Amino acid sequence: MNKFLLVINAGSSSIKFATYHKEALSNQLIADASGQIEGIGNQPDFTVMNPNDDILVTRKFSVDEVHDHTSAISIIRVWLLDYFADCTLLAVGHRVVHGGQYYSAPVLIDAKVLKDLEALIPLAPLHQPHNLAAIRAFQEIMPTLPQVACFDTAFHRTQPDVAQRFALPRRYFDEGVRHYGFHGLSYEYITLVLPTLEPLLASARIIVAHLGNGASLCAIHNGRSIATTMGFTPLDGLVMGTRCGSIDPGVLLYLMNQHNMDVQALEKLLYHQSGLLGISGISYDMRVLLASDNQNAKEAIELFVYRIGREIGSLAAALGGLDALVFTAGIGERSSVIRAKICHQVKWLGLDLDESANETDVRRISMLNSKVSAWVVATDENLMIAQHTLRIVI
Ligand code: ADP
Repeated sequence: MNKFLLVINAGSSSIKFATYHKEALSNQLIADASGQIEGIGNQPDFTVMNPNDDILVTRKFSVDEVHDHTSAISIIRVWLLDYFADCTLLAVGHRVVHGGQYYSAPVLIDAKVLKDLEALIPLAPLHQPHNLAAIRAFQEIMPTLPQVACFDTAFHRTQPDVAQRFALPRRYFDEGVRHYGFHGLSYEYITLVLPTLEPLLASARIIVAHLGNGASLCAIHNGRSIATTMGFTPLDGLVMGTRCGSIDPGVLLYLMNQHNMDVQALEKLLYHQSGLLGISGISYDMRVLLASDNQNAKEAIELFVYRIGREIGSLAAALGGLDALVFTAGIGERSSVIRAKICHQVKWLGLDLDESANETDVRRISMLNSKVSAWVVATDENLMIAQHTLRIVI
């Protein structure tokens, strides 16, 4: 019987999913349908697409029908049973934001793992509870189905101690207040792909720029993360769609003192009203800003690029030099304009951009004699989760 895997990425009001079927002989995973339920508990909307992004299903549900993660997953399950009627579901792999200090690799979920992950909720209160709600929903609906947790933090557990510390009293570090880093599944995927493009990259000093709505950079040496711009939370580092990135902590004290902001108000400001949206006052979407003549939109782009340039300098220092810069995620993969601006900022490190290659659909975008090479590589976090899940369950 044919076998398939399910990948789940659960947020507060949405569950995204992707399916992969396994080729019997090669064990290769082939992307199949993917989709999402959005507006859980509000205006539930179920969509499924085939691998060419043609819509297979689009259906609205009532709030009574889809009021929580369990009811949403029941809807996905009914569709799966129909679509994969003569196939067996091998396992489900979950994207889990936080694995804390101890989970440095994907893991088969059992009662102990789930308890450990619940204890990490204070470290990622905006994401972890929803990831775990999906896991519990599968336990309820399909109790015998193997479930695997794949962590956004795991890839960065190789960071040296010094890169994980804040200059706070030691007890906070021991309690878990550390520089963790995120987007790990994306960085892991890129690290696996790079040597297939250029074998020397397997042991090179690389900075990967994951530039989507959430954005971060990772310094990688010998295939291992040694430093990254996101920190204790995915709020740190670069300017993002709606997140502020690095900020002087004194600004928060000022806002609390002078604007009477409490935790909720600060959370809303820093996570949802800042970044490209906050500076431009127009949009969080880079496409909209690039198309705009508005001066504030231009300033938002300028700051986005400036901060990336500075952070690349900082990570290059942590690496002791730089051999390659890699662009990935929505902005990194699709905006030649932003890539060019960043590459010009990094010229001093020895990066010579091939302007025409940057405009075409090739992966290497630096001149052949450039000391630092530059690449565009499409990331695939879902495939990474599916591969981990398959490896653990077979
Ligand atoms: P997420 O972090 O939500 O996974 P993505 O990696 O999908 O985000 O990136 C989404 C962002 O990519 C969008 O907000 C948009 O700003 C940007 N983007 C997508 N296509 C383009 C493009 N052609 N030019 C510039 N930016 C783009």
